Amino acid sequence: MSISITGLVKSFGHYAALRGVDLNVRPGEFLALLGPSGSGKTTLLRILSGLEAPDAGRLTIDGADISHQRARDRQMGFVFQHYALFRHMTVAENVAFGLRVKPRAQRPANAEIGERVDSLLRLVQLERMGDRYPAQLSGGQRQRVALARALAIEPRVLLLDEPFGALDAKVRKELRRWLRGLHDEMGLTSIFVSHDQEEALELADRVAVMSDGRIAQIGTPLEIYRNPANAFVCEFLGNTNRLDCVIENGRAAIGDQLFYASVPADAGRLRGIAYVRPEDCELRPSADAPGLKAKVVKVFAAGPTTRIELRRLESDEVIEALLPHGAVAPQPGTEVALGFRQLRVFPAPNT
Ligand code: ATP
Repeated sequence: MSISITGLVKSFGHYAALRGVDLNVRPGEFLALLGPSGSGKTTLLRILSGLEAPDAGRLTIDGADISHQRARDRQMGFVFQHYALFRHMTVAENVAFGLRVKPRAQRPANAEIGERVDSLLRLVQLERMGDRYPAQLSGGQRQRVALARALAIEPRVLLLDEPFGALDAKVRKELRRWLRGLHDEMGLTSIFVSHDQEEALELADRVAVMSDGRIAQIGTPLEIYRNPANAFVCEFLGNTNRLDCVIENGRAAIGDQLFYASVPADAGRLRGIAYVRPEDCELRPSADAPGLKAKVVKVFAAGPTTRIELRRLESDEVIEALLPHGAVAPQPGTEVALGFRQLRVFPAPNT
């Protein structure tokens, strides 16, 4: 199913939660919506599902306009962060719920509902738990029941709002891999809201980063990580060093060092910010080598990489560098020359 969202606007009182969202989701795609708290992710998902009405904009599925269709006619499965299972119903009754409330003409026969529930419970690996109540399950098991319940109506699209947010890190990791497998196996089109960058970058085919009611950038995990479109995405995703610079003639001057910058050469002379990922820092052993002069402050060698904290001699700015595990790290107190394999430069705000 392809989904197309155009010019979506939504305000709550005077507060503009969505300020013109355009988004196209491809058939079979697993798309993550990532962004800070309050950026509009849940509002966008609720409007897509039909639980909330937009003030303006258009939604289509495979070209058909669904903007005015009721939630239950949209055939979308929805899974929230909090399990939202019916406590007084068994697991099997919870999963069957969406089928039992269908109008009589569309409702499958009891035997068929039973078979479908059994096969869904097998799918989410809870086949022997149909008679239990939600209170008798772990958090991860409850979330799998919520997923089975969403899948029971054979949705065209699966919408997930931080479905694993309340679970501990290990269970979360297992469930997200399993969910991705299920998405592929069932040929679903899924939109997944997450706070967790690692989760979004690992799971999704593409990630849409939201900021302040808009899409700041959409791209594959690699594209948005390596080529952030603006300073917001750059700072939001992963760790990055932030260095003041002056942009002139398509180059960025940081101290007395010049770096190529992807800004128009005719933009004049601007104050800028250069962003450098710690893994793109290169430590040259001699302070006489080309690069920014810096002193090693601390070395953290435990873990899969060695993290080095440096202080620039010229400005006192703190810079973090990451070296692969096993690389020879300079001792604290050593002066080094810092080079950058890649940096992104954007004009400073208010310039
Ligand atoms: P989080 O990651 O914290 O869940 P989010 O990106 O999903 O955040 P939304 O829940 O979409 O953000 O909310 C966007 C903005 O709209 C927030 O400032 C929120 O306070 C506001 N908002 C959302 N729903 C309502 C509502 N029903 N009434 C008033 N304001 C609302």
